[in-house]
Amino acid sequence: MSSSPHRAAFLGLSNPGYHKDLVLKVDLHAHTAQDPCDYVPHSTRALIDRASALGFGALAITLHNRHYDPAPDQEYAQSRGLLLIRGIEQTIHGRHILLINFPAEAAAVRSFDDLRALKQRHPRGLVVAPHAFYPIGSAMRADIERHADVVDAVEVNSVFTSWLNFNTRAVEWARAHGKPIVGNTDLHLLAQLGSTYSLVDAPPDADAICEAIRAGRVEVRSRALPTIRAAAFFAGMVLGGVIGQIRTRIGK
Ligand SMILES: [Zn+2]
Ligand SMILES: [Zn+2]
Repeated sequence: MSSSPHRAAFLGLSNPGYHKDLVLKVDLHAHTAQDPCDYVPHSTRALIDRASALGFGALAITLHNRHYDPAPDQEYAQSRGLLLIRGIEQTIHGRHILLINFPAEAAAVRSFDDLRALKQRHPRGLVVAPHAFYPIGSAMRADIERHADVVDAVEVNSVFTSWLNFNTRAVEWARAHGKPIVGNTDLHLLAQLGSTYSLVDAPPDADAICEAIRAGRVEVRSRALPTIRAAAFFAGMVLGGVIGQIRTRIGK
Protein backbone atom coordinates (compact mmCIF):
# COMPACT_ATOMS: atom_id res chain seq x y z
CA MET A 1 0.00 0.00 0.00
CA SER A 2 1.21 3.46 -0.82
CA SER A 3 1.52 5.84 2.08
CA SER A 4 1.07 8.83 -0.20
CA PRO A 5 -1.32 11.31 1.41
CA HIS A 6 -2.64 12.41 -1.99
CA ARG A 7 -3.39 8.89 -3.07
CA ALA A 8 -5.15 8.22 0.21
CA ALA A 9 -7.01 11.50 -0.04
CA PHE A 10 -8.51 10.83 -3.46
CA LEU A 11 -9.19 7.12 -3.43
CA GLY A 12 -12.90 6.62 -2.98
CA LEU A 13 -13.45 10.26 -2.10
CA SER A 14 -17.11 10.83 -1.31
CA ASN A 15 -19.23 13.91 -1.46
CA PRO A 16 -21.46 14.61 1.51
CA GLY A 17 -24.98 13.52 0.60
CA TYR A 18 -23.93 10.46 -1.31
CA HIS A 19 -25.49 7.40 0.24
CA LYS A 20 -26.92 4.95 -2.27
CA ASP A 21 -25.41 2.25 -4.44
CA LEU A 22 -23.11 3.64 -7.07
CA VAL A 23 -24.19 2.56 -10.47
CA LEU A 24 -22.79 4.60 -13.32
CA LYS A 25 -19.13 5.15 -14.25
CA VAL A 26 -18.90 8.64 -15.75
CA ASP A 27 -16.32 11.01 -17.26
CA LEU A 28 -17.38 14.56 -18.13
CA HIS A 29 -14.22 15.89 -19.80
CA ALA A 30 -12.87 14.35 -23.00
CA HIS A 31 -11.47 15.76 -26.25
CA THR A 32 -11.44 14.13 -29.70
CA ALA A 33 -10.00 14.80 -33.16
CA GLN A 34 -12.93 17.19 -33.73
CA ASP A 35 -11.35 19.62 -31.27
CA PRO A 36 -10.74 22.95 -33.04
CA CYS A 37 -7.94 24.05 -30.69
CA ASP A 38 -5.74 21.12 -29.63
CA TYR A 39 -4.47 18.39 -31.92
CA VAL A 40 -6.03 15.18 -30.58
CA PRO A 41 -5.20 11.95 -32.40
CA HIS A 42 -8.24 9.71 -31.71
CA SER A 43 -11.67 9.76 -33.36
CA THR A 44 -14.94 9.96 -31.45
CA ARG A 45 -15.66 6.31 -32.30
CA ALA A 46 -12.26 5.18 -31.00
CA LEU A 47 -13.01 7.01 -27.73
CA ILE A 48 -16.42 5.34 -27.52
CA ASP A 49 -14.85 1.91 -28.02
CA ARG A 50 -12.27 2.57 -25.32
CA ALA A 51 -14.81 3.93 -22.81
CA SER A 52 -17.11 1.00 -23.45
CA ALA A 53 -14.27 -1.50 -22.96
CA LEU A 54 -13.48 0.13 -19.60
CA GLY A 55 -17.08 -0.13 -18.41
CA PHE A 56 -18.06 3.54 -18.60
CA GLY A 57 -21.81 4.18 -18.60
CA ALA A 58 -21.73 7.83 -19.68
CA LEU A 59 -19.24 10.21 -21.25
CA ALA A 60 -19.40 13.92 -22.07
CA ILE A 61 -17.32 15.06 -25.03
CA THR A 62 -16.10 18.59 -24.37
CA LEU A 63 -14.31 20.17 -27.34
CA HIS A 64 -12.68 23.57 -26.85
CA ASN A 65 -15.19 26.28 -27.82
CA ARG A 66 -17.15 23.92 -30.07
CA HIS A 67 -20.38 22.35 -28.89
CA TYR A 68 -20.48 18.59 -29.29
CA ASP A 69 -23.84 17.16 -30.35
CA PRO A 70 -23.87 13.40 -29.73
CA ALA A 71 -26.65 12.69 -32.27
CA PRO A 72 -24.42 11.21 -35.02
CA ASP A 73 -22.65 8.91 -32.53
CA GLN A 74 -25.33 8.15 -29.94
CA GLU A 75 -26.67 4.97 -31.53
CA TYR A 76 -23.16 3.60 -31.98
CA ALA A 77 -22.34 4.42 -28.34
CA GLN A 78 -25.55 3.04 -26.89
CA SER A 79 -25.09 -0.25 -28.73
CA ARG A 80 -21.89 -0.47 -26.65
CA GLY A 81 -23.60 0.42 -23.37
CA LEU A 82 -22.42 4.02 -23.32
CA LEU A 83 -24.48 7.22 -23.12
CA LEU A 84 -22.93 10.29 -24.77
CA ILE A 85 -23.70 13.66 -23.17
CA ARG A 86 -23.52 16.95 -25.06
CA GLY A 87 -20.85 19.29 -23.84
CA ILE A 88 -18.34 22.02 -24.53
CA GLU A 89 -15.21 23.33 -22.82
CA GLN A 90 -15.97 27.01 -23.27
CA THR A 91 -13.45 29.78 -22.76
CA ILE A 92 -14.88 32.67 -20.75
CA HIS A 93 -12.54 35.62 -20.17
CA GLY A 94 -9.64 33.25 -20.79
CA ARG A 95 -10.88 30.64 -18.29
CA HIS A 96 -11.98 27.14 -19.24
CA ILE A 97 -15.44 26.08 -18.04
CA LEU A 98 -17.17 22.78 -18.80
CA LEU A 99 -20.78 23.28 -19.87
CA ILE A 100 -22.44 19.87 -19.72
CA ASN A 101 -25.88 18.96 -21.05
CA PHE A 102 -26.59 22.41 -22.51
CA PRO A 103 -27.84 22.98 -26.07
CA ALA A 104 -25.67 24.40 -28.87
CA GLU A 105 -26.24 28.00 -27.75
CA ALA A 106 -23.71 27.29 -24.97
CA ALA A 107 -21.03 28.01 -27.59
CA ALA A 108 -22.22 31.63 -27.69
CA VAL A 109 -21.46 32.26 -24.00
CA ARG A 110 -18.80 34.98 -23.73
CA SER A 111 -19.15 36.23 -20.16
CA PHE A 112 -20.10 34.97 -16.74
CA ASP A 113 -23.34 36.95 -17.03
CA ASP A 114 -24.06 35.12 -20.31
CA LEU A 115 -23.49 31.90 -18.39
CA ARG A 116 -25.90 32.94 -15.64
CA ALA A 117 -28.54 33.63 -18.28
CA LEU A 118 -27.85 30.30 -20.00
CA LYS A 119 -28.31 28.47 -16.70
CA GLN A 120 -31.61 30.24 -16.11
CA ARG A 121 -32.86 29.15 -19.51
CA HIS A 122 -31.53 25.59 -19.12
CA PRO A 123 -31.53 24.61 -15.46
CA ARG A 124 -30.76 20.98 -16.28
CA GLY A 125 -27.29 21.85 -17.54
CA LEU A 126 -24.27 21.34 -15.31
CA VAL A 127 -21.34 23.76 -14.96
CA VAL A 128 -18.04 22.21 -13.90
CA ALA A 129 -14.82 24.07 -13.07
CA PRO A 130 -12.02 22.01 -14.66
CA HIS A 131 -8.36 22.04 -13.53
CA ALA A 132 -9.45 24.99 -11.36
CA PHE A 133 -6.19 25.52 -9.46
CA TYR A 134 -3.67 24.16 -11.96
CA PRO A 135 -0.81 26.56 -12.74
CA ILE A 136 -2.12 27.29 -16.24
CA GLY A 137 -3.70 30.44 -17.65
CA SER A 138 -7.01 28.73 -18.41
CA ALA A 139 -7.61 27.72 -14.77
CA MET A 140 -10.33 29.69 -12.96
CA ARG A 141 -8.31 30.21 -9.78
CA ALA A 142 -9.45 33.56 -8.25
CA ASP A 143 -12.40 33.71 -10.67
CA ILE A 144 -13.92 30.64 -9.06
CA GLU A 145 -14.41 32.69 -5.90
CA ARG A 146 -15.86 35.66 -7.80
CA HIS A 147 -18.23 33.46 -9.79
CA ALA A 148 -18.89 30.68 -7.31
CA ASP A 149 -22.63 31.01 -7.92
CA VAL A 150 -22.36 29.63 -11.49
CA VAL A 151 -20.21 26.62 -10.53
CA ASP A 152 -22.22 23.44 -9.90
CA ALA A 153 -19.28 21.08 -9.40
CA VAL A 154 -15.48 21.10 -9.21
CA GLU A 155 -13.20 18.75 -11.14
CA VAL A 156 -10.60 16.39 -9.75
CA ASN A 157 -8.34 16.21 -12.82
CA SER A 158 -6.60 12.94 -13.70
CA VAL A 159 -3.19 14.47 -14.33
CA PHE A 160 -1.47 14.34 -10.95
CA THR A 161 1.15 12.28 -9.20
CA SER A 162 1.61 11.20 -5.61
CA TRP A 163 4.01 14.11 -5.08
CA LEU A 164 2.46 16.81 -7.27
CA ASN A 165 -1.28 17.30 -7.01
CA PHE A 166 -3.01 20.55 -7.95
CA ASN A 167 -6.40 19.05 -7.12
CA THR A 168 -5.94 19.44 -3.39
CA ARG A 169 -6.98 23.10 -3.40
CA ALA A 170 -9.92 22.37 -5.68
CA VAL A 171 -11.24 19.75 -3.28
CA GLU A 172 -10.74 22.09 -0.31
CA TRP A 173 -12.53 24.89 -2.16
CA ALA A 174 -15.41 22.59 -3.08
CA ARG A 175 -15.75 21.43 0.53
CA ALA A 176 -15.71 24.99 1.85
CA HIS A 177 -18.42 26.05 -0.62
CA GLY A 178 -20.61 22.96 -0.41
CA LYS A 179 -20.01 21.99 -4.05
CA PRO A 180 -19.76 18.40 -5.22
CA ILE A 181 -16.57 17.15 -6.84
CA VAL A 182 -16.37 15.03 -9.99
CA GLY A 183 -13.48 12.97 -11.35
CA ASN A 184 -12.51 13.79 -14.96
CA THR A 185 -9.74 12.72 -17.27
CA ASP A 186 -9.45 15.90 -19.41
CA LEU A 187 -8.63 13.29 -22.01
CA HIS A 188 -6.35 14.19 -24.91
CA LEU A 189 -4.88 10.69 -25.35
CA LEU A 190 -6.89 7.45 -25.18
CA ALA A 191 -4.41 5.87 -22.79
CA GLN A 192 -5.41 8.44 -20.16
CA LEU A 193 -8.91 7.08 -19.73
CA GLY A 194 -9.79 5.29 -16.50
CA SER A 195 -7.40 6.58 -13.84
CA THR A 196 -9.84 9.24 -12.56
CA TYR A 197 -13.62 9.15 -13.01
CA SER A 198 -16.91 9.53 -11.14
CA LEU A 199 -19.41 6.98 -9.94
CA VAL A 200 -22.84 8.57 -10.17
CA ASP A 201 -26.00 7.30 -8.54
CA ALA A 202 -28.27 7.81 -11.54
CA PRO A 203 -29.75 5.96 -14.49
CA PRO A 204 -28.04 6.47 -17.87
CA ASP A 205 -29.87 9.70 -18.68
CA ALA A 206 -28.13 13.06 -19.08
CA ASP A 207 -30.65 15.06 -17.04
CA ALA A 208 -30.66 12.47 -14.25
CA ILE A 209 -26.85 12.31 -14.15
CA CYS A 210 -26.54 16.11 -13.87
CA GLU A 211 -29.23 16.23 -11.20
CA ALA A 212 -27.54 13.46 -9.19
CA ILE A 213 -24.20 15.29 -9.32
CA ARG A 214 -25.80 18.56 -8.20
CA ALA A 215 -27.35 16.66 -5.30
CA GLY A 216 -23.97 15.18 -4.34
CA ARG A 217 -24.87 11.61 -5.29
CA VAL A 218 -21.44 11.14 -6.83
CA GLU A 219 -18.15 9.65 -5.75
CA VAL A 220 -14.71 10.29 -7.22
CA ARG A 221 -12.40 7.39 -7.98
CA SER A 222 -8.90 8.59 -8.59
CA ARG A 223 -5.46 7.09 -8.84
CA ALA A 224 -2.22 9.05 -8.91
CA LEU A 225 -0.24 8.58 -12.12
CA PRO A 226 3.32 7.28 -12.04
CA THR A 227 5.58 10.29 -12.59
CA ILE A 228 6.84 9.13 -16.00
CA ARG A 229 3.28 8.61 -17.22
CA ALA A 230 2.13 12.00 -15.95
CA ALA A 231 5.13 13.61 -17.65
CA ALA A 232 4.27 11.82 -20.91
CA PHE A 233 0.65 13.03 -20.73
CA PHE A 234 1.76 16.58 -19.97
CA ALA A 235 4.19 16.44 -22.91
CA GLY A 236 1.52 14.98 -25.20
CA MET A 237 -0.98 17.66 -24.18
CA VAL A 238 1.54 20.46 -24.68
CA LEU A 239 2.59 19.03 -28.07
CA GLY A 240 -1.07 18.68 -29.09
CA GLY A 241 -1.63 22.32 -28.15
CA VAL A 242 1.39 23.45 -30.19
CA ILE A 243 0.31 21.42 -33.26
CA GLY A 244 -3.20 22.84 -32.87
CA GLN A 245 -1.86 26.41 -32.80
CA ILE A 246 0.26 25.79 -35.90
CA ARG A 247 -2.75 24.27 -37.70
CA THR A 248 -4.85 27.31 -36.76
CA ARG A 249 -2.15 29.69 -38.03
CA ILE A 250 -1.74 27.94 -41.37
CA GLY A 251 -5.53 27.88 -41.74
CA LYS A 252 -6.16 24.14 -41.64
ZN1 LIG B 1 -9.06 23.04 -20.14
ZN1 LIG C 1 -10.02 19.96 -21.61
